[in-house]
Amino acid sequence: MTYCDLHLHSTASDGTDAPSQLPVLAKARGLAAIAITDHDTLAGHDACRAAAEENQIAFIPGIELSIDPGQPRGTFHLLGYFINDQSKALNSIIDQLTQSRLSRNPRIIEKLNQQGIDITEAEVLDLAGEATIGRPHIAAVLVDNGHADSISDAFSKYLGARGSAYTRRDKIQPEEAIPAVQDAGGLAVLAHPIQLKLDPHALEHKIKQLKEMGLDGLEVMHPDHSPDDTLTYQRLAEKYDLIPTGGSDYHGTRKTIKMGSQNVPLAIYERLTHIHAK
Ligand code: AMP
Ligand code: ZN
Ligand code: FE
Ligand code: FE
Repeated sequence: MTYCDLHLHSTASDGTDAPSQLPVLAKARGLAAIAITDHDTLAGHDACRAAAEENQIAFIPGIELSIDPGQPRGTFHLLGYFINDQSKALNSIIDQLTQSRLSRNPRIIEKLNQQGIDITEAEVLDLAGEATIGRPHIAAVLVDNGHADSISDAFSKYLGARGSAYTRRDKIQPEEAIPAVQDAGGLAVLAHPIQLKLDPHALEHKIKQLKEMGLDGLEVMHPDHSPDDTLTYQRLAEKYDLIPTGGSDYHGTRKTIKMGSQNVPLAIYERLTHIHAK
C-alpha cells in the first residue's frame, strides 16, 4: 500500500526540521503525499512546496489553528488543507494568534522567574529563530538549562495545563476560523478530537455543531488515538459526512513520533484532493 502523512510541523512553528527538509524525509520514508500543518502560520509553504516538487511528492499547503475550546479543559486545534495564503480573513486570524503568543510568552517567563527558574526571553527568541514561538521552544530552553529532563517533563512541571507557569492565551472562535479557512480556499478539519477531552455524548454534540458551521473533515488517525478511538471517530465521520483524515503530528526531535507512523492510506489524500477540486 502507498501512504501519506497529513499532519507535519516544521521550524516555521515548533518542529525541528526545516520546511524544505520535510519532503526529503517523506521521500526517504516512502510516502507519496504530505501536508505541512504548522501552528498558526503559513510561513513554511513556499519552501516545502518547492522541495516537494523537487522530490516528486504530492503536497498540501496546510495550517493548524489554535481555537478556543470553550471550556477550561482540553485543546481544540483546527487543521486547514489547501490553504491559499492571500485570504484576508485567514491572515487576520493569523495576526491575532501571533499577537496572543507574543503577549503570553513573556508572562510564562515571568512566572518561571518568580519561581526561581533562570530563563530569559532572549534565550527563547534565539532558539526559536523565525518560528511562531510556542511552549515547546520554552520547554527546549528549560531542558538545555537543566530545569527539566525532557520536553514532556517541562510540560508536566511548568508549561502544561497543570504546570506551575501555565498561562492561557486568547484563541479564535470556531465560528470565525472555519469560514476563514474556507475563504482561503481550504477544507477545515477537526484535529485530534481526543484532545478536546469531552465525553462521547459531548463530543458528538460538538461535532454536530462544528458541522453546522461548515466543518469538512475529522482527523481520525493520530498518535494520541487508541484503536478504539480511531474506530469511534471513523464512525462519527461517516455519520456526519465528514472527510476522515490522518497524520503523525510529526515535530522532529521535539516529540518521539516518527513521520509516516500512522500509515495513512494515500486514498485519504486522494479523497481530500477530489473534494477540494469540486
Ligand atoms: P502552544 O502552541 O505554545 O500552546 O504549545 C502547544 C504545543 O506544545 C502543542 O502543539 C504540542 O506540540 C506541544 N505540547 C503540548 N503538550 C505537550 C507535552 N505534554 N509534551 C510535549 N509537547 C507538548
Ligand atoms: Zn506543536
Ligand atoms: Fe495539534
Ligand atoms: Fe499538530
